[in-house]
Amino acid sequence: MHTPVGFNPGHVRPESLAAATLAFAFRGDKLLVSSAADAPTLPDFSTSQRLAPGEAIHYLGELDGVACVTIALGDDAPEPAGWRYAGLRSLFFKLPEPLIAIAQRAFQVVEWERTHRYCGRCGTPTRDKDGERAKECPRCGYTAYPRVTPAMMVLVTRGRELLLARSPRFPPGMYSALAGFVEPGETIEDCIRREVREEVGIEVTDIRYFASQSWAFPHSLMIAYNAEYAGGELCPQESEIAEARWFAYDAVPDLPPSISISRRLIAATIERLAKEAV
Ligand SMILES: [Zn+2]
Repeated sequence: MHTPVGFNPGHVRPESLAAATLAFAFRGDKLLVSSAADAPTLPDFSTSQRLAPGEAIHYLGELDGVACVTIALGDDAPEPAGWRYAGLRSLFFKLPEPLIAIAQRAFQVVEWERTHRYCGRCGTPTRDKDGERAKECPRCGYTAYPRVTPAMMVLVTRGRELLLARSPRFPPGMYSALAGFVEPGETIEDCIRREVREEVGIEVTDIRYFASQSWAFPHSLMIAYNAEYAGGELCPQESEIAEARWFAYDAVPDLPPSISISRRLIAATIERLAKEAV
C-alpha cells in the first residue's frame, strides 16, 4: 500500500467538516461499510456519527478534494441495519484501491490512538498535541508518534535459482521470500544479512533495493530487496521456517497474492532472469 494519487495528507482538522467527508470508522480492526457484499461503500461523517458515534476522531487529509477522517469506535459499537464491520483484507478488490490504501492508513492511526491513551513513561492520560500527529503527556512532556515498524524482505537468487521458503503459518504449498523485522542499531542491509543467516544459514551479497510497501497489520513498512547467494549450506531454522528450497525461475511453487510486495518482488525477478536466459 502507498499514498494514492489524488490524496493530500494532513493532520489538522478543518474548522468544519463538509457533509461529504468520508468516515473510516473502526470497531476493533474492522471497518464500517454498507452491507452490499460486492460493492460496499463508506459512510459520510454525519451518517457514521449517527449510526455509531465515536469520540476519538482524527483528520487524515483529502482525497480528490473530499475530506477523510478516521474514528475509533468502542468494542460495543452497534452494527446498524444496512451496515456491517468488515476486515480490511476482505475488502481488497471490493473497495476502490485508493480507499483501501487510506483505510490502511486510517487503521494505523486508530491503532495508535487506542494504544497511546496513557503516557508510556508515567501513566498519565495523554492528549493530542497541537501542530503534529502526536500524543503528549501533560505531566512529564513525553511525546508518542504513530508507530511504524520497518521490516525487510529479501529474495535471494543463485544464478537462475530463487530461494523461497515456507513459514509454518502459510497456507499449504505456498512459498515466499524471506522477511524479518529490523532490530535497534541495524541498517536494513545488516538486518538482511542477519535474518538470512539466522533463518536459512547462508551468506548473501550484492543487496539491491526493489520497492517498499506500507502494511497495516498492524503497522509495518516492508522494504524489499534482491540479493545474491554468497556461500553456505541451506539450514532452515525450525521455529521460523517450515521449508526452504532453491527453485528454478521457470518452475516456482504457489506464491502469495498479487496485492503483496512479495509477489511483485518474485514476479519482477523471474521476469529479469527469463530475459537474461535468452
Ligand atoms: Zn508522562
